[in-house]
Amino acid sequence: MGRETGGKCKQCRREGEKLFLKGERCYTRSCGVTRKSKPPGEGPKRRRPRRSQYQLHLRAKQKARRIYGIRERQFRNYLAMAKRKKGVTGEALLTLLERRMDNMVYRAGLASSRQQARQMITHGHFELNGRATNVPSVLLREGDLVAVKEGRRERVKAIVEAAVDRDAPAWLERNVDTMRFQVLAMPNVELTGQNIEANLIVEFYSR
Ligand code: SF4
Repeated sequence: MGRETGGKCKQCRREGEKLFLKGERCYTRSCGVTRKSKPPGEGPKRRRPRRSQYQLHLRAKQKARRIYGIRERQFRNYLAMAKRKKGVTGEALLTLLERRMDNMVYRAGLASSRQQARQMITHGHFELNGRATNVPSVLLREGDLVAVKEGRRERVKAIVEAAVDRDAPAWLERNVDTMRFQVLAMPNVELTGQNIEANLIVEFYSR
């Protein structure tokens, strides 16, 4: 199973909540979930069947994959890495997803969506600890410094200005003027506001 290619708003409607996949539009009244809350393909009179345990687990996994824009195989790799870490596997999994550079760029408010952040990184606009990088999946560590390259600031100015209204989380210290941020601590997955039931994801793959 590859990366999700269906309409982004459809993906949110399938999960029954906003996944914030489209950038600025997600914060307006044009949001697909605000306008139409039913899952795609569901007619007005059809009664929604109760979800089985399997479906609950599947939906939790799909929701996380959709939010972070991760392919199935890559997602399994993250789970394998999480299992090798000490502590609760579900929390370790979410922390790994949060540590991805594309996610951190989005969280820092330098891009309107994770997809946009991914694109900016692959286009070579960023440097990590002073060295050019174009790999969105790099896992950031405490103390890492991410910045838009000096020569690219003018090019991404409009994107950053549109995104920067969102507050950065406590574990990131950002400087909007120089378009950079530093990772102060590992992400606190309870404060991400994503409401992902990581234990259901772990159970899904344990079946
Ligand atoms: Fe989801 Fe709304 Fe954004 Fe569409 S606009 S991707 S429905 S949050």
